[in-house]
Amino acid sequence: MKNLVKESVAKLKPYVPGFQPKDSSYIKLNTNENPFGPSPLVFESIKKELSENLRLYPDPVCSELREKVAELYGVSYEMVVFGNGSDEILSLIMKAFVEKGERVCAYTPCYSLYKVLCAIYEAEFLPIPYGSSFSLSCPDVFAKLIFLTNPNSPFGFCVKKEEVFRVLRRFPGLFVVDEAYGDFWGDTFIDFVKEFPNIFIVRTLSKSYSLASLRVGFGIGNKKIVEAIDKVRDSYNVNRISQVAAFAALCDQEYKNECIRRIVEVRDWFVSEIEKLGFYVYPSQANFVFVVPPDGFSAKEIYKKLFEKKIIVRFFEEEGIDHGLRISVGKKEEMEILLSSLREILDGHSV
Ligand SMILES: *Cc1c(COP(=O)(O)O)cnc(C)c1O
Repeated sequence: MKNLVKESVAKLKPYVPGFQPKDSSYIKLNTNENPFGPSPLVFESIKKELSENLRLYPDPVCSELREKVAELYGVSYEMVVFGNGSDEILSLIMKAFVEKGERVCAYTPCYSLYKVLCAIYEAEFLPIPYGSSFSLSCPDVFAKLIFLTNPNSPFGFCVKKEEVFRVLRRFPGLFVVDEAYGDFWGDTFIDFVKEFPNIFIVRTLSKSYSLASLRVGFGIGNKKIVEAIDKVRDSYNVNRISQVAAFAALCDQEYKNECIRRIVEVRDWFVSEIEKLGFYVYPSQANFVFVVPPDGFSAKEIYKKLFEKKIIVRFFEEEGIDHGLRISVGKKEEMEILLSSLREILDGHSV
């Protein structure tokens, strides 16, 4: 059987998602979910959709969702496409634009899925490290596509608009900005789509709208890009329940904004508390923070000790990001438990 598998797949190192425990007694701060759950309108919309309608295929073009996003961001309907999570959108971009052997860049460190997608689509992955104060350089070789995670994951910082502007004026390929955490930043590169035909913005409802389980994401860009993605995607890529739930979530901006406000408040409080324990914290415009333990303590050991205490944070065993931990911002009570556990770990010098 093994030799029937494509060579590229046989040697592929797959994406490793954050641990999803079955047991709800864990404090889960590893995959940046929203601790507050979706808007009440989401539950109502799902209850209404749980009917005989389930026998019917969903709307193949997500027309209501596209209209809603077009209205929210002041773009036209033809510039919006929906996917089964933004991960699917990222994969569809590769499928529609990148030929085998072509080069794909990403400003690193970044979301680790891009590299895996390159392996799947047999593209050459070329990391471009951020410059000083998060500046962006234009690749000096031809690349078909560049990925930028902004706000950055795992660090949480954002780049300045001029940086992207400068690259776009020179870069002829497709420039993809993954704004999974854009709502927490409160800004966006969506305005650039009017000026540049080769920028594409990817967003998700998993984080700020708290819909991770339903898998809904969208992309915004020139209609030629959207048309290409539409050609290669599955006709029914977003199911009925997810479509109605996402629509309800998008309609309740007030609820989403209140969640963001509370998360940002807890984040800023948590940063000042964890700094008191001697951790270095990267500046974050997202719903997580990347923290580096004080001298003499290893991030991996702290990760393990926290896990034993049923607190799950994210540790990436990868050069350049294995010196710290990425911690999602949960409810204040959860962050308080985390802080007291960290205090115990540091005091006990058990690391
Ligand atoms: C969470 C996340 C995604 C995936 O979002 P889904 O819509 O749940 O697939 C994409 N990019 C980044 C940077 C993320 O953190």
